[in-house]
Amino acid sequence: MVCQVNMHASYLDPILMRYPHRDLLQILIAVQDCHGYIHTDAIDHLSLQLQLPRAKIVGVASFYAHLYLQPKGEYRVLFSDNITDRMQGNMALMTSMCQQLWLEPGKASEDGLVSIDTTSCTGMCDQGPAMLVNGLAINRLTEERINRISALIRGRVPLSGWPAALFAIDDNIRRRDILLDSCFEAGSALAVILQGGSDKTLQEIKASRLRGRGGAGFSTGDKWQLCRDAGETDHYVVCNADEGEPGTFKDRILLENFADMVFEGMTLCANIIGAERGFLYLRGEYRYLLPSLQSVLARRRGKKLLGNNILGLAGFNFDIDIHLGAGAYICGEESALIESLEGKRGTPRNRPPYPVTHGYLNQPTVVNNVETFAAASLIALKSGAWYANIGTNTSSGTKILCVSGDCEYPGVYEYPFGVSIAQVLSDCGAQDTQAVQISGPSGMCIAPDEFHRRIAFDDIPTAGAFMVFDKTRDMFEVARNFVHFFAHESCGFCTPCRIGTTLLANMMDKLGEGHGSPYDFNEIKNLNALLKSTSHCGLGHTACNPVLETMAKFPETYDKRISNKEFVPDFDLDRALSQARQMTGRDDTDAHLARSDD
Ligand code: SF4
Repeated sequence: MVCQVNMHASYLDPILMRYPHRDLLQILIAVQDCHGYIHTDAIDHLSLQLQLPRAKIVGVASFYAHLYLQPKGEYRVLFSDNITDRMQGNMALMTSMCQQLWLEPGKASEDGLVSIDTTSCTGMCDQGPAMLVNGLAINRLTEERINRISALIRGRVPLSGWPAALFAIDDNIRRRDILLDSCFEAGSALAVILQGGSDKTLQEIKASRLRGRGGAGFSTGDKWQLCRDAGETDHYVVCNADEGEPGTFKDRILLENFADMVFEGMTLCANIIGAERGFLYLRGEYRYLLPSLQSVLARRRGKKLLGNNILGLAGFNFDIDIHLGAGAYICGEESALIESLEGKRGTPRNRPPYPVTHGYLNQPTVVNNVETFAAASLIALKSGAWYANIGTNTSSGTKILCVSGDCEYPGVYEYPFGVSIAQVLSDCGAQDTQAVQISGPSGMCIAPDEFHRRIAFDDIPTAGAFMVFDKTRDMFEVARNFVHFFAHESCGFCTPCRIGTTLLANMMDKLGEGHGSPYDFNEIKNLNALLKSTSHCGLGHTACNPVLETMAKFPETYDKRISNKEFVPDFDLDRALSQARQMTGRDDTDAHLARSDD
């Protein structure tokens, strides 16, 4: 149903003009930037102007965790809640801030000044604990910083007046190899294409044996070839910079320091597959990078590295738009990302068909990771044979690892594929390591007897996260944090995942509270079988992994939580009646189910 226009919503017209392609998610983000939330009048106006049902706009807005349909505070504070933030004390800092500003977590203050809540990993694990204030990142939180931020909020100082040092973000590049050590000159890889032609460049990409760096490891050359061969329709290039996997932050460093290399890789790909339009899908948590990325794009347009007839080659037309995400982990899955680009809820699609033939607007689309596009630029410059000689037989080139957790030197490390876990632990100054979680919650938990194993597609594949846990950490609590993350990030599309991830989180809470029995272990295994066989996408398939892996490798941490041989129900009637006791002002023995004379 299309609603009547509200004249007060005319402020939206400039926003609509800014987005001629009517990108709904970008429009909603811009609306929220104006007013702190998406007002019902704005929805009515957008419904009329975009000729979209109101329900569709509400459906999209309600999908993204960082979009609000109800007023929040003028200052919207979100504490990053990854396991490494927890290890660094984020919860105590959040409690302190709530006390200073007189509000409860998850709520806005009564005067509407501030709201405080948690959000999933913000990609700052090497410098946490971290928070977002109105979308901007502040790291290395301490009690002293929290006091300063609280005072700025109480004083209603606009964010533009906050000390710049509060927003400083470090690169923490600890080890450089062929990619992070390169002095890439904008246009140098494109010049190679002009000399040799796109066929030759595609052959070099294939010869390099480059595989996608997002984790799945599909051959980049084959993907580009398949897309190129997919008909005469419009083609698209998409760079996936929605690195939401907890513990991953390499795209942040690449986009801050090597944006030309990434955009040039996208442009090479466009030339090979015949695309004229590309997108960088930037996770909302990295929106502080937006101005610098826009200026790199503008500079490239000025140098004829983007736009029409690139570098004077007639018909070589390509340009790149940046799309912001808004707090949805699932949009890192390529088909969900495409849905989001199309202005929809980020629900993963059925596959096949794959994006390479039916992607953005159902047209052939290459979706690659930030690191993959950067590597492609390097290969165009230096040759496929050069690249293929680095790394191992199955995994050519280098891999950027994001090291966080219990170590002296957290940050970004680039290694040739084949590096052992032990080597990385030694380089980052880890001591008494109990476990390493590779590739985030959906990845692998590696115990000390496996530290000889290597980072490679045929041994330990990874999208980049390398979280270190020393012997003081309780691996049960690590797994509990991860399953809560999955329950929070399940997109809700399919019932087994929507319900199953919550059941799993509840079971872990039950075990954590000492009400577990062997029955619960069996239930977790049954749930895993159900989720693996019936879930629509990888999130559901892997949701039980953290529990199963830690159960197998650190059984003692589970055994000590089993105090009952018989089944104990999760529902505690006595606890459920606590509110009634509070209301009646009774808390004597007779008001409890377990009476003293039983
Ligand atoms: Fe969404 Fe989970 Fe189903 Fe994936 S498995 S589509 S995340 S509900």
